[in-house]
Amino acid sequence: MTAAVTVAQIREPAAMRAAVLESRAAGRRVGFVPTMGALHAGHASLVEQAALECDDVVVSIFVNPSQFGPTEDFARYPRTLAADAALLAPRGVRWIFVPEAADMYPPGAATRVVVDGPARRFEGEIRPGHFAGVATVVCRLFHCVPADVAYFGAKDWQQTLVVKRMVHDLGLPIEIAVCPTVREADGLAMSSRNAYLAAEERRRAVALHEGLCAAERLWQSGGAVAAVEQAIRDPLETRGIAIDYAAVVAADTLEPLPAAGAQPPAIAIVAGRLGGTRLIDNRLLPPRRRPG
Ligand code: AMP
Repeated sequence: MTAAVTVAQIREPAAMRAAVLESRAAGRRVGFVPTMGALHAGHASLVEQAALECDDVVVSIFVNPSQFGPTEDFARYPRTLAADAALLAPRGVRWIFVPEAADMYPPGAATRVVVDGPARRFEGEIRPGHFAGVATVVCRLFHCVPADVAYFGAKDWQQTLVVKRMVHDLGLPIEIAVCPTVREADGLAMSSRNAYLAAEERRRAVALHEGLCAAERLWQSGGAVAAVEQAIRDPLETRGIAIDYAAVVAADTLEPLPAAGAQPPAIAIVAGRLGGTRLIDNRLLPPRRRPG
């Protein structure tokens, strides 16, 4: 019989910070994977990458209230701590950091980290205050978990830009690693929110991936940006998915591509709504010589 592996859970920020500092003082490289729980294979891939590159791995599970808008899904966001701990146990995680909201935001908390630049458009426009919530909690988490490196998923591409911008601007002493998006067999990007989809919505949800793949094909054959953006939209329109945005922009800034001259790396990004569920996805586009 094999004994079940369990991972130590730490609730208190001060205890978490002390454990990480002690590990680093002993010369160990510490990796950190911040999450909101309801863990799936996408989260697992970040943890596995961290375990490959680091001596100790910390995963935080905290459903951060400040990054949800007043009409969003904070109350019904899935909370599955026992299953999450079971997923993490065999993956070489040393600590799970599970703070309470009161540990992260003391009574009367009045400080927010507001990032401009990459936070301005797309998710920033549709979810006002979202990235301030993300930046504030990630900054706070980096203080509680003073790791060498933190791992984020490319699925939330704009979030990776916002976090990198904040780390650079505030001179936070942590590296940011971005890991590829993990997908279901039909191409749908894994997300904790996929659990909200009814079976019929789940079948239609593949349209985001289809649109991005069609966009990449058209991009590679030299299609104009507007046509490539329409190629993202087509399958969503066919399947009755409401489109929040579908765009081809500069990957590092999310600004429009220059009309002429040297072309920065480009990315296709999309967000759509099926019933009450919002899904996002993106695809980095290969370099090409001529702008469309
Ligand atoms: P969340 O729990 O949704 O806040 O996500 C925690 C981290 O997991 C974020 O850095 C996400 O970008 C990342 N993540 C979520 N879904 C995926 C996925 N399908 N593939 C890779 N990373 C992901």
